[in-house]
Amino acid sequence: MIDLSNFIRDVPDFPEPGIIFKDITPLLGDSAAFTAALEAMATPFDGLGVDLVVGIEARGFIFAAPLAQRFDAGFVPVRKPGKLPWDVNGYEYALEYGTDRLEAHSDAIHDGASVLVVDDVLATGGTGAAAVALVRELGGDVIGFSVLIELGFLNGRSKLPEVDVHTVVHYGND
Ligand code: AMP
Repeated sequence: MIDLSNFIRDVPDFPEPGIIFKDITPLLGDSAAFTAALEAMATPFDGLGVDLVVGIEARGFIFAAPLAQRFDAGFVPVRKPGKLPWDVNGYEYALEYGTDRLEAHSDAIHDGASVLVVDDVLATGGTGAAAVALVRELGGDVIGFSVLIELGFLNGRSKLPEVDVHTVVHYGND
C-alpha cells in the first residue's frame, strides 16, 4: 500500500510567514499515488447514491471531477466571488481577519440531491463549513465531506458537526 504522506511536501512560510503549506503536486504527478488518493477519498461513500460532487475552488476541483466520474455523478464548482457567469447564491464566512465568500450557481443543485463535498485540505474548517451551508441552502442533502489532508491540530471538524467528514492523510492530534 502506498504511503501518501510521502507525496505531500511541506513548504514553510508559504503563502505567508508562519503557514506550512501542504504541496500536493508531487502526489498529483504520480499516477499510482493520485489513483490511490482518489480511491481512499471515495470508498467510504460507495453505495450511498451520490448524485453530485461539489468541488471547492481551486484544488478541490482536481479531486472532485474524477470522483464525480467514479460515482456516475455530476460535478458542481463552488467558486470565489465573481467567477461564475450565471445567477449565484453566496455564503460568507469569517477568516482570521475579515471575511471571505463562496458562490455556486443558483440552479446547480436540485432539491434533495445527495451531495458529496470535496476539497484538498481541511484546516480551520471555515471553507468546508461554508460550502456545506451553501449546498444546503440550494436544497442539497450533504452526505459527506471528503478531504485528502486533515490538519487535526486546527480542529476544523468542530465547524462541521453533523457532517460525515472523511480525511485520508492526518497531521497533528486528530
Ligand atoms: P480552512 O477554511 O482553514 O479549513 O482552509 C481550507 C482551505 O484552505 C482549503 O481549500 C485549502 O486548499 C487551503 N489551505 C488551508 N491551509 C492550507 C495548508 N496548510 N496547505 C495547503 N492548503 C491549505
